[in-house]
Amino acid sequence: MKLNVDELRTGFPSLHQMVNGHKLVYFDNAATTLKPQIVIDRLNAYYQKENSNIHRGAHYLSSKATAAYENARCTIQKHLNAAHSHEIIFTRGTTEAINLVAASFSKKFIHEGDEIVVSAMEHHSNIVPWQLACADRKATLRVIPVNNDGELVLDDLDALLNEKTRMVAVAHVSNALGTVNPVEAIIAKAHQRNIPVLIDGAQAAPHMKIDVAALDCDFYCFSSHKVYGPMGVGVLYGKEQWLEQMPPYQGGGEMIKEVKFSGTTFNELPFKFEAGTPNVGDVLGLESALKYLTNLQLDAVANHEYNLIQYAIEKLKTLENIKLMGSPAKRAGVVSFLFTDIHPYDTGTILDKMGIAVRTGSHCAQPLMDILQVPGTVRISFGVYNTFAELDYLIDSLVKIRKLFT
Ligand code: PMP
Repeated sequence: MKLNVDELRTGFPSLHQMVNGHKLVYFDNAATTLKPQIVIDRLNAYYQKENSNIHRGAHYLSSKATAAYENARCTIQKHLNAAHSHEIIFTRGTTEAINLVAASFSKKFIHEGDEIVVSAMEHHSNIVPWQLACADRKATLRVIPVNNDGELVLDDLDALLNEKTRMVAVAHVSNALGTVNPVEAIIAKAHQRNIPVLIDGAQAAPHMKIDVAALDCDFYCFSSHKVYGPMGVGVLYGKEQWLEQMPPYQGGGEMIKEVKFSGTTFNELPFKFEAGTPNVGDVLGLESALKYLTNLQLDAVANHEYNLIQYAIEKLKTLENIKLMGSPAKRAGVVSFLFTDIHPYDTGTILDKMGIAVRTGSHCAQPLMDILQVPGTVRISFGVYNTFAELDYLIDSLVKIRKLFT
């Protein structure tokens, strides 16, 4: 199955605008994706016809919105192939999902002298919450190293895991390099020692089919806004056995069974972890975004983006003084590079003048940039609507930038 890119582009209104006098070329999909009209329409429909607070209301609109919200939870359960819908917790995004696990899991399961393992290529969102948990619990953070190809050194993982390790938290796909990490092998190694694994799927969910049952991960998280859905919502999948044992993350309405000044009892899953009024509209937008992706067929999406990546790498390599960051065996969504004689920020700023949106900087992965000894990179990241013609225009523009600087 092949993506009909010309046709699907007509469904993304933001693509059809001029930026700095040029047709917009959007290569910043790892930061956030553009939204299809179908998602925008779903948000409009909710606010025009269904808007209501959910779960407690006795009236028509509240029942309708409650049913839609809980139905979206089931859609996401099926999308991830989770065993139960109550294993799907709605959060503000990947960041909040990781903070939830780091705070709640550590309160129950992490004690003085314990260890948590992350990798050297994590986004700050999968480092800092664990650093906070370590500080709180007097635990130590250990790091899986990365090699020059931008791949994790898995041989070192065996030496890192021991009887004190309480959690392994790694990215499925690196947002800075695009490396697809061998999460299956990492999960297997950790599980041999009964250590749970959290997978940060923020950069995987837009590009591949995620099957939490096949992965057998303990936690998986992603953000709606990177899978063509609205901002402000995300998903935490957690195995029932862990979520049941973990204490609440935040207190408030929805998450309680009974409140007394003498003591409060908590609601069942998933509500125990969803304090306060949920972001109903955006959950419904996320549901329609995932349906949109499923309709396109994730295999076709992966295939199209793989071809774009190969083409981009081949063309970039022809440019002078270019350094491509990493050459992982498996890559998704992202190509990072820099000109050795031009600061990434300058490259990004001039590309913007040509209507091309890319991201420059450390990509919230400062430890990785330190290891790679670069000030940052220029990152191009792909979505379903990107074309080979857009890549040709990018390469022509980079050639012009080179001429400007020589
Ligand atoms: N992890 C990775 C790998 C990411 O790329 C991002 C977003 N750049 C995040 C976590 C954080 O996602 P959010 O800001 O949507 O919470």
